[in-house]
Amino acid sequence: MTDRPPEPDVLTGSGSTPVGGNEEDHLLSYGRQTIDDEDVAAVEDALRSDYLTTGPRVEEFEGRLAETVGARYGVAVSSGTSALHLACLALGIESGHEVVTSPLTFAASANCVRYCGGTVVFADVCPGTGLIDPAEVERAVTPRTRAIIPVDYAGFPCDVEAISSIARRHDLWVVEDAAHALGATYGGGTVGDCRHVDMATFSFHPVKHITTGEGGAITTNTLALYERLKRLRNHGLSRPPEKVAAEGSWYQEIDELGYNYRLTDFQCALGTSQLRKLSRFVAKRRQLAERYDQSLPGAHVELPDPSEHSSYHLYVIKVADAETRRALFDHLWGLGVRCQVHYVPVHWHAAYERLGHERGSYPNAEDYYARILSLPLYPSLDAEQQDRVVEGVRSFFGVK
Ligand SMILES: *Cc1c(COP(=O)(O)O)cnc(C)c1O
Repeated sequence: MTDRPPEPDVLTGSGSTPVGGNEEDHLLSYGRQTIDDEDVAAVEDALRSDYLTTGPRVEEFEGRLAETVGARYGVAVSSGTSALHLACLALGIESGHEVVTSPLTFAASANCVRYCGGTVVFADVCPGTGLIDPAEVERAVTPRTRAIIPVDYAGFPCDVEAISSIARRHDLWVVEDAAHALGATYGGGTVGDCRHVDMATFSFHPVKHITTGEGGAITTNTLALYERLKRLRNHGLSRPPEKVAAEGSWYQEIDELGYNYRLTDFQCALGTSQLRKLSRFVAKRRQLAERYDQSLPGAHVELPDPSEHSSYHLYVIKVADAETRRALFDHLWGLGVRCQVHYVPVHWHAAYERLGHERGSYPNAEDYYARILSLPLYPSLDAEQQDRVVEGVRSFFGVK
């Protein structure tokens, strides 16, 4: 067992492959996939079928996903990052446009704006929850603002109603980064139903609620956005009937540049199979969260407010200060408990500092970052493993 520091990609939350081999079986990562024989059989069927990509399993997965979250349309793409990029493109974000997002998120929530030439503006989070503060969003709006990208941090839904009312008042789009919140609910709806937002984006990276290896999706209720997203995912190709009639049946054209952000049929087969188990996965995550709530030493660590709405992508605890966090992190890693920190604030990255974003600008996000740790949380974590995590935290604080 080593206690070497995490790889950089693990620190940002988008790396982290769970450990395999026997001698590493005692290592617990903060998140990992749950794959069963049904999943394997579904992928095998797809691999033996006529379509490896752009076949019937893509639409099947999109339909199931849309139905699960209660949206009209779903578009499957190659990652959560490409979902965010396409969402920004579909809204026409470009140079001169500002988009407001959270500094306490995986960098993709902000990077997607820059891919389109837009300017990222951060709005600080609420100190208790780490969720973007609607009052700060309002303060960040300027005449150049076009969109808001709130994040459902750790699986807790952001305040979409407050954010959508700001958006309506200032004529802005809202893209909900729901990568943490598949299966979460909010007062009166399901995250991803797009009742209050224009689009929601998801990720199917192995640490998320369901996986397709790499993968992502966008949900929306707006037909024009749906059609544009589908074109942009496939190079921008389209087949206008009048031109096909004039030129020939092979004809297709590119009106605006798109990308290859397609998801394969065998990945979609896995996605559909995983989706069948989503409610079980979420129930297990909630049950584990409740068990942490009850057994972690509350005198020494701040626990998340229990929520029946959260789908608990992460179980984030907060300690007194940065030194304690660092020592607890090292202590747990020394025990084979590979906790993580989500996230280094986005504006701290050199690629953002270089644009003039300064440390100290978002004190709530920075204070949050300084004191947090994400403990292992995934459906296959068993009671004995969870007890090891709890025991690790208790022993650090000298609690019996
Ligand atoms: C995982 C994640 C993404 C990106 O998803 P990928 O599939 O890894 O590209 C975006 N935003 C948040 C908040 C995430 O956690």
